[in-house]
Amino acid sequence: MKLSTFKNGIHPKSFKHFSNRKKIEEMQVPEEVFVPLQQHIGKLAKPIVKKKDEVKTGQIIAETDGFISSTVHSPITGKVKAIDEFDHPSGVRAKMIHIKKTVDDEWELIDIPKNWKDATKNELIEIIKKAGIVGLGGAAFPTQVKLSPPKGKPIDSFILNGVECEPFLTADHRMMLEYTDKVLTGMAITMKILGVKNGYIGIEDNKPDAISQIQKRVMDLNYDFKVIPLKLKYPQGAEKMLIDAILKRKVPIGGLPMDVGVVVNNVGTVFSIYEAVTEGKALVERVVTVTGDGVKEPKNILARIGTTFKELLEFSGGLKDETNHIYMGGPMMGVSQHSISVPMIKATSGIVCSIEKSVNVKVSPCIRCGTCVRVCPINLIPTKLSRLSELSKYDELGKYEIQSCIECGSCLYSCPSNIPLVQWIRVGKLKSH
Ligand code: SF4
Ligand code: SF4
Repeated sequence: MKLSTFKNGIHPKSFKHFSNRKKIEEMQVPEEVFVPLQQHIGKLAKPIVKKKDEVKTGQIIAETDGFISSTVHSPITGKVKAIDEFDHPSGVRAKMIHIKKTVDDEWELIDIPKNWKDATKNELIEIIKKAGIVGLGGAAFPTQVKLSPPKGKPIDSFILNGVECEPFLTADHRMMLEYTDKVLTGMAITMKILGVKNGYIGIEDNKPDAISQIQKRVMDLNYDFKVIPLKLKYPQGAEKMLIDAILKRKVPIGGLPMDVGVVVNNVGTVFSIYEAVTEGKALVERVVTVTGDGVKEPKNILARIGTTFKELLEFSGGLKDETNHIYMGGPMMGVSQHSISVPMIKATSGIVCSIEKSVNVKVSPCIRCGTCVRVCPINLIPTKLSRLSELSKYDELGKYEIQSCIECGSCLYSCPSNIPLVQWIRVGKLKSH
């Protein structure tokens, strides 16, 4: 069978074997959590608790501030110890609410209808907003905004993103296997909100067990969703690549999926939608993969937001003595970590630990081989963007569509001269915005 895919891209080693057969383990409720006010794209949430306040699990502790913002909840039952700046996994100091556990969970749940099928679109969106759901594939865009496209942008298709193309990560794979029915119900709820009939589930063909499990349950439960096996290629899970592979629609440069009538959500996000709408649970926990050759027992873990990396690593048997690197996310788009005291946030899909020694990678001049241009899935000219940014010629970057770069890292991965293309492009994006 010919598998669907997109043009260009690369084939990095997948390293999924560390954890793709490990069942999801639920971690004990941590003794303390550090909950950042910024865990999403958009405006910082506004704290509504103060030091010494008692809070329940699922209680709102910070409210949305503006249209693009997201609610933040307490992941445990306890007492607010401080609202202060702590180390954030993005590498900066950021405002967080530090809570110490007092008793085991006492939940505060969101009001939900008896049957979600009887709820209106607006009622369902309000629950998602109250639950603080954001895109869990890494982008952390507030979901209530994504599911409310403006009037001039009619949506006809929804794609469930089960690709998880980033090397090492297996959380979505395990959720498709272990939480199948909940994921499919979350997809049905999302499609009801969008008012669309066409539902697609894209899964790379390195997860044949997930493809057959999802296909089976789609048939058993009488859903009219189409399961689309996709060719193994990076970055197949990027929204634009997924839409191209499944629907053969091209999102215009500088555009969004809604410009071609599509909304894409990943597996973790629709699972959270299921939990909010049918159980009244806010987004206070997620599945995270702790993996790599630098950790003793790689695992997929259901853990509370705000749990420190240190605790997650201890739950995974601890770090090996020879561990050299830790990333949040995978090695292609992840963020290198300098401390394990940082907390997991809503966007933490994985913690990847590596024993690979730092080698002084020698950067050489560009040899104009064109490889970076051939692999770029967005058809940009990475060498040009990087060079203009390095020369501080930020005014010229717009005409080369720098803002369309999805920072997938394919160009950097392929460059024989080891030029830090993505790093220069990131600088250029910031300076020319
Ligand atoms: S220029 Fe951007 S989108 Fe293109 S390969 Fe490089 S990082 Fe990916
Ligand atoms: S891959 Fe590297 S060496 Fe080749 S053209 Fe691009 S920047 Fe130059």
